[in-house]
Amino acid sequence: MRVLVINSGSSSLKYQVRDTGTNEVAATGLIDRIGEDAGGPADHAEAMEQVAAALAGELADKPLDAVGHRVVHGGERFSEPVLINNEITRSIERLNPLAPLHNPANVLGIRAITAKWPDMPQVAVFDTAFHRTLPEHAWRYAVPDELYRQYGIRRYGFHGTSHEFVTARAAELLGVPLAGFNAVVAHLGNGVSLTAIQGGASIDTSMGFTPLEGLVMGTRSGDIDPSILIFLQRQGLSADEIDTMLNRDSGLKALFGDNDMRTIVDAAAAGDRRAQTALDITSYRLAKYIGGYHVAVGGTHALVFTAGIGENSAEFRAQAVARLGALGVKLDGAANLERSGAPRVISAPDSLIPVLVVPTDEERAIAEATAAVVLSS
Ligand code: AMP
Repeated sequence: MRVLVINSGSSSLKYQVRDTGTNEVAATGLIDRIGEDAGGPADHAEAMEQVAAALAGELADKPLDAVGHRVVHGGERFSEPVLINNEITRSIERLNPLAPLHNPANVLGIRAITAKWPDMPQVAVFDTAFHRTLPEHAWRYAVPDELYRQYGIRRYGFHGTSHEFVTARAAELLGVPLAGFNAVVAHLGNGVSLTAIQGGASIDTSMGFTPLEGLVMGTRSGDIDPSILIFLQRQGLSADEIDTMLNRDSGLKALFGDNDMRTIVDAAAAGDRRAQTALDITSYRLAKYIGGYHVAVGGTHALVFTAGIGENSAEFRAQAVARLGALGVKLDGAANLERSGAPRVISAPDSLIPVLVVPTDEERAIAEATAAVVLSS
């Protein structure tokens, strides 16, 4: 099946055409500066026209069978991918307050496709869906119940498509049936999240009500004492200023001044103290969470690294794993340094827990989920 995968952001639209039979990427591209200024498309509908124009040659040969959308927030309703109709689109729209930067853009992407190709099957694949199996003791915050009832304030978790894809491949690599597989999966990209997998399902994850909770990220703070927000507000900072500070100006960018892990690792190797401190804070926080999730799943069968940093930074993996001596985890130095796009084991033979690198591919997962929904509908 030929699936157009759309990842629609507030001012950009990423797309890929995937063949789910061969796993070939037939086309890929990015339209950015949507609605920003002269040069960029005025809105998402115009951006979709640009995508259609860019794909005209490609689609003339082999038309599309379906469109799959990455939708950031599925709230409590969506626990799996769904075929989109008007009611589903409105339901996604009703979740806008929970993901104000992302869901409105997802809805614009869906409506732009509906306007352009009214008969095209469209499927929504939710970033939160895989975490719908979290038990209440993991998803509930210890705050008054009205916050949950009135505003839906609870932990949802994100990066679910990636965690699900990587978990299945890790189980396959180890030859363990998914239903009996416990794992701790570290998605370390610009956004960072850790998921505790028990019996193939997500039972805890480090992102919460929004993708700001949890670990140190490229530009996001991760966990901080919530009183800091109250303190800053009392100092006169506005909600928008605090939002920008914690989401865009924190994390590695705040600790070192740059959020690219390559630059930080190189600087640390050259003796830059700030860079080493940034690595120490980031790897320490990650190791603490890994220890916690090892307990949460009742003993993990694997520690799995994925995404930009997890797949590519042998140095960061080594620094994080070096903090896991209490769990008997040890890397194989040479295997850790090996460069490969394939899922692989990088731990030493006597490591008590195997450590894996499993490349993620969210577009592939979205294309496959879309094909499965369309074929079964
Ligand atoms: P992602 O969000 O998964 O695309 O990951 C993006 C991040 O991965 C970048 O900010 C880099 O810090 C990191 N990254 C990508 N390639 C490498 C590499 N070869 N070595 C270290 N870090 C990398």
